[in-house]
Amino acid sequence: MRRYAAVVLDADSTLAGIEGVDWLAARRGPEVQRAVESLTARAMDGELKLEAVYDERLRTIGATNEDIEALADAYLGAVAPGAADAIAALHASGVVVHIISGGLRPALLPLARALGVPDERVHAVVPEPDAQGKLTHAKPSPLTTQAGKLEIVRALALPRPILAVGDGATDLAMAPAVDAFAAYIGFVRRDAVVAGAALVLDSFATLVEHALSA
Ligand SMILES: [Mg+2]
Repeated sequence: MRRYAAVVLDADSTLAGIEGVDWLAARRGPEVQRAVESLTARAMDGELKLEAVYDERLRTIGATNEDIEALADAYLGAVAPGAADAIAALHASGVVVHIISGGLRPALLPLARALGVPDERVHAVVPEPDAQGKLTHAKPSPLTTQAGKLEIVRALALPRPILAVGDGATDLAMAPAVDAFAAYIGFVRRDAVVAGAALVLDSFATLVEHALSA
């Protein structure tokens, strides 16, 4: 028996144990890493708005297409234990699975494909190149903003009930548009997010247990 008709998953620190933009920053050395990580953490804790830091992070990093390919490999190497089995079990029970991420879409698509989630169910940020080919800004998207995931999940009009799962403040922002929000703490536990969540999941096995028992 399934408890939900749709499950919406975050990517960074949920489906994979990295923060993609921070991972790119680390390739630029410790100074860039520290600056970008601090901006990301403050946005995920809800202290800064994501839109205030998104392009600043991309400009600071100046990623190339080669960096994006390396990040795609890093996502594949950091996939959450049991995530692929969990998504397969959800699919087998007729649950629609979407990934809604504030991360970079070209780097996330190989992970999504490995997990059996088709490209059209991956909603994430598309980075755009400057004149030098550096990916210094994002194509305008609600997903570069604090409440963007809420906007996207509403626009998708997914079958209900909907379960949303993620570790960050931008995930918790979806709560008004879904039937349950679960804080995923398999990689990071953020107190403000846990406090606002209907339930707390520490693994993808517990996610399946919850989602497929009525
Ligand atoms: Mg996350």
